[in-house]
Amino acid sequence: MIAAACSLLDASVEDDREFELGDYEGAIARWCPGCGDHSVLSAVQRLLKQEQLEPEKTVFVSGIGCSSRFPHYMKTYGFHGLHGRALPVATGVKLHRPDLHVFVVMGDGDCASIGAGHWLHAMRYNVDMVALMLDNNIYGMTKMQTSPTTPQGFSTNTQPRGSYLPALNPIEVMLGITNVSFVAQTAEWAPAHLFATLEAAHRHKGFAFVRILQRCPIYTPKIFMGAVRDPGLIELLVHEDGIDVPELRKLYRTATVHDPKDMDSARRLAEPGERIRLGIFFRDGTRQCYGDVRNVPHHTVEEKLALLEEEFARHVI
Ligand code: SF4
Repeated sequence: MIAAACSLLDASVEDDREFELGDYEGAIARWCPGCGDHSVLSAVQRLLKQEQLEPEKTVFVSGIGCSSRFPHYMKTYGFHGLHGRALPVATGVKLHRPDLHVFVVMGDGDCASIGAGHWLHAMRYNVDMVALMLDNNIYGMTKMQTSPTTPQGFSTNTQPRGSYLPALNPIEVMLGITNVSFVAQTAEWAPAHLFATLEAAHRHKGFAFVRILQRCPIYTPKIFMGAVRDPGLIELLVHEDGIDVPELRKLYRTATVHDPKDMDSARRLAEPGERIRLGIFFRDGTRQCYGDVRNVPHHTVEEKLALLEEEFARHVI
């Protein structure tokens, strides 16, 4: 038993473990029945199994909100942190342990309101991780307050006569950030598309931002219902370098060829239209990653103490 445990820590020992779905399943999810978060959880667990990510080398970081309970439901490392602060925590984890697979799970309020400053800079820093925004257009955990992505005119508990302002468009925001490297949109009720998007995001080198449109049957049951029932309201962005799931073409018949390298086209397609667009808007794997250029040597505790002593001595003298 001890030998087996040691072999997990010894990189020179060949790792012949094969992970099953159960190796990634944590506590039983306590989201409401019908909540779209269940679908995302299932897709993420399937992705980890397909990619055979070592559970002890995988970390899920979240903020606060319904979707931020995600790390509890994964049998990996996890950090259920502070409201809006998932990205700085995840950045610290990845910079100090580049060998880990880092996933961030945020809600629309968590990411685009209190966490907005971190969100913009996380994209500019382009640290290698997957950031998921589970966007149900509302603050669900705190009972139906207007979030940045709530549609204008939608009645909430904080703006009962209808949300005052036009909704923030997370895709347009991300496409406007310097050094942007991966921006995609998918929907949890299209599991094949969701899975293909997660797969592309995981394989991208850099900060991969994925907005996942997510149903909340408790507070925003009608917002995505039209698109769920009528596939004609969905437009797929397809390309050989993007996402193309052939079996989806039978259901979603409106498809636009879009090269994810074309930023001008990405920005045009990000503007609201008659249909909800799903696919990779932009991808450039050659953008600079902060983790690569920072190149700070990793010190042991003893080395850090020695450096501090040297620093102290310099100042005292
Ligand atoms: Fe999901 Fe909405 Fe329930 Fe939160 S309130 S768990 S988002 S269905």
